[in-house]
Amino acid sequence: MSPETQTMNSALFSKNIAGPHNFGPGPSILPKQVCEEASRAIINFNNTGLSILEIGHRTKLFQPVIEEAVSTLKELMQLDNDHEILFLHGGASTQFFQVPMNLLDEKALASYTDTDVWGSKAIKEAKLFGRVEVVASSKDKNYSYLPKQFVVDPSSAYLHLTTNNTIYGTQWKDLSLFFNKNVPLVADMSSDILSRQIDFNKFDLIYAGAQKNIGAAGVNVVVVSKNCLGKVSRQLPTMMDYRNHIEANSLLNTPPVFAIYICMLTLRWLRNNGGIAEAEKRNEVKAKLLYDTLDNSSIYKPTIPTEDRSLMNAVFTIENAEVEKEFLLLCEKENMVGVKGHRTTGGFRISMYNAMPYDSVKALTDLMKYFEQTKA
Ligand code: PMP
Repeated sequence: MSPETQTMNSALFSKNIAGPHNFGPGPSILPKQVCEEASRAIINFNNTGLSILEIGHRTKLFQPVIEEAVSTLKELMQLDNDHEILFLHGGASTQFFQVPMNLLDEKALASYTDTDVWGSKAIKEAKLFGRVEVVASSKDKNYSYLPKQFVVDPSSAYLHLTTNNTIYGTQWKDLSLFFNKNVPLVADMSSDILSRQIDFNKFDLIYAGAQKNIGAAGVNVVVVSKNCLGKVSRQLPTMMDYRNHIEANSLLNTPPVFAIYICMLTLRWLRNNGGIAEAEKRNEVKAKLLYDTLDNSSIYKPTIPTEDRSLMNAVFTIENAEVEKEFLLLCEKENMVGVKGHRTTGGFRISMYNAMPYDSVKALTDLMKYFEQTKA
């Protein structure tokens, strides 16, 4: 809190940790310990005198890093032996086409849900490889809700969903809706993976860019069931075939060594802090604080109905454009980083991934309440 804002009405504020408070949607906040340890490893990795940035991916130094990343992720997600974990390049966006390349034959059908810009990008790519049916869409209302009544052709090669819609702030809460469709499931979990307990084994394939809940940008995680591979008739480029990456333990070519190292540290942090079960509890408490603040306000307008609200990305607007600008300026001044909404929604988006401390959400909600009082 700047002294200037504080003297305006100091009684309103609780004692919070110092900013900046990083509410960015991704790349986003990482645990402080992870950044500290990584900074040491850039100078001297594990007392070798070498930097983590200069070690070979096939050396004895890197081997334990990727092994720990894989085993910790496997433990956190409680994966069965049929599921393999891959660290791949190209971001989640590459999975938009790598998935249909590997799973969808030219004449076969894939069912897709269209609940965000990201889902619609995945649909566009899938159409290059086979037949696509959009079984549910909320595009008619600018993706502001989740369409729950839909039918899926049982012959679908798979049904694709985005579990958390980063831009619009919706999240599928009850995934049994998908489990009941009795078709293989593929999920883009980029913005809520490891944030809540899910039966991950129910999915044939899960992908996620690492830069929100897993680690740093530059790598994405793919969890794939071996059973669903090798069924398409097309020839796959070597780097596009998941089976080659499984065979090579994600070392088919030079992987993003540093990004994988950050994943390993972040996953270790999560495991040492109670795993997904405890992260979920913390995420619920943070989101409740923010949504309660929105619901008890007369100036902030949450854009998503309660049942569909994301615990990861909360989106809201302020009706009066001038007041909105004023609040944005105040956020900047008070070191609230990354709060501006996506260009397609306007308003504000508050991202509260696993590493976001409660105190940062408290500092923001205190500021919101304070600002609202000045407008009364
Ligand atoms: N899917 C979702 C749900 C996302 O939020 C994003 C990026 N924020 C992407 C896909 C695209 O990820 P990338 O930039 O890693 O390709």
